[in-house]
Amino acid sequence: MKVAFFAETADGKITRGAWELLAWSRTLAAPEKTAAVIVTPSIEEAQLQKLVSSGARHVFLCESPALDRADIPACAAILQSFCETYRPDVLLGAASVFGRALFPYAAMRMKTGLTADCTGLETDRQTGLLLQTRPAIGGNVMAVIKTPSHKPQMATVRPRSAPELPPYGGEPGSITRFPAPDSQSLPGAPRVTASIRLTHGEEIADARRIVAVGKGIKREGNIDLARRLASRLGAALGATREVVDRGWLPYSAQIGLSGKTVVPELYIALGISGAVQHLAGMRTARKIVAVNTDPDAPIFQVADLGIVGDLFEVVPRLIDEFSPKTK
Ligand SMILES: Cc1cc2nc3c(=O)[nH]c(=O)nc-3n(C[C@H](O)[C@H](O)[C@H](O)COP(=O)(O)OP(=O)(O)OC[C@H]3O[C@@H](n4cnc5c(N)ncnc54)[C@H](O)[C@@H]3O)c2cc1C
Repeated sequence: MKVAFFAETADGKITRGAWELLAWSRTLAAPEKTAAVIVTPSIEEAQLQKLVSSGARHVFLCESPALDRADIPACAAILQSFCETYRPDVLLGAASVFGRALFPYAAMRMKTGLTADCTGLETDRQTGLLLQTRPAIGGNVMAVIKTPSHKPQMATVRPRSAPELPPYGGEPGSITRFPAPDSQSLPGAPRVTASIRLTHGEEIADARRIVAVGKGIKREGNIDLARRLASRLGAALGATREVVDRGWLPYSAQIGLSGKTVVPELYIALGISGAVQHLAGMRTARKIVAVNTDPDAPIFQVADLGIVGDLFEVVPRLIDEFSPKTK
């Protein structure tokens, strides 16, 4: 199976989402069948070298200062001509803001299917088809979707759902450059005239430790207790949708199906029931500690350490435990 992925760039660098797609591609395809396609106004040479030495065996690069990142029709046209030439069985993209806009448009042009926002990818051993897993019916089931009769099988993949990129000791890949199509031939498309980097909320996606609060925290004023624990542990503060919908914490703190996916080393869930939609965003955390008064709360099924108890008693003791001790 030939697997290609669209490697997004920003400010000359390959984005984190693209590295995750390389990890997925390497789990799905033999090394010589892994390709990256890049459409960019500019990219640093060192980034290209890193890509080919990390297991992308074929890198197809369309680099032109005339290209605009927001020009979806142009980018889709380039992707289509790449697919007509290279003929990948699978084309992956990141479920980033740009990927979510580009991939449906490109799939429509290529008259193929698209499974958006996947959290898992596998190859069907019998048919060789891509098995694309994503939450469905409000996150209550994980649907496994195939694209049996159209190529390429296209999917966008949720950030932070990829396996870790394994070290690569194989042959370095090659870089093939191809020209951008004549801009005159492109339909009138949007252009980026300015860009603003939103930093709010990034801390939670990258955090190694997270203290998350659910409705069990009871009111906004009590969040300070969780914040104090987070600060003791050097952790970021996250929340369930119940908390965000009440306006107690901003949306950037929401973890789950309709929020962020996080993979911290430590996740402390305080007063969180463990609904499937919440688990969808945090169940792959390395160590999960849950505090809940209800011994039957579903969060305990994914917890490495479960504390059945009142968070208002447990958290002050944890804060005390982690406080610097004076002799
Ligand atoms: C389409 C869709 C998308 C969704 N997306 C998301 C999402 O992205 N993220 C998300 O989180 N949810 C999401 N939800 C909502 C989800 O279904 C749940 O409603 C939500 O996760 C529940 O939040 P909670 O655990 O804070 O509240 P609850 O389910 O009400 O749980 C509160 C918990 O606190 C415990 N508790 C109460 N008092 C204490 C105490 N003193 N000490 C300790 N424990 C206590 C209770 O036993 C209970 O288990 C989505 C739902 C839908 C339909």
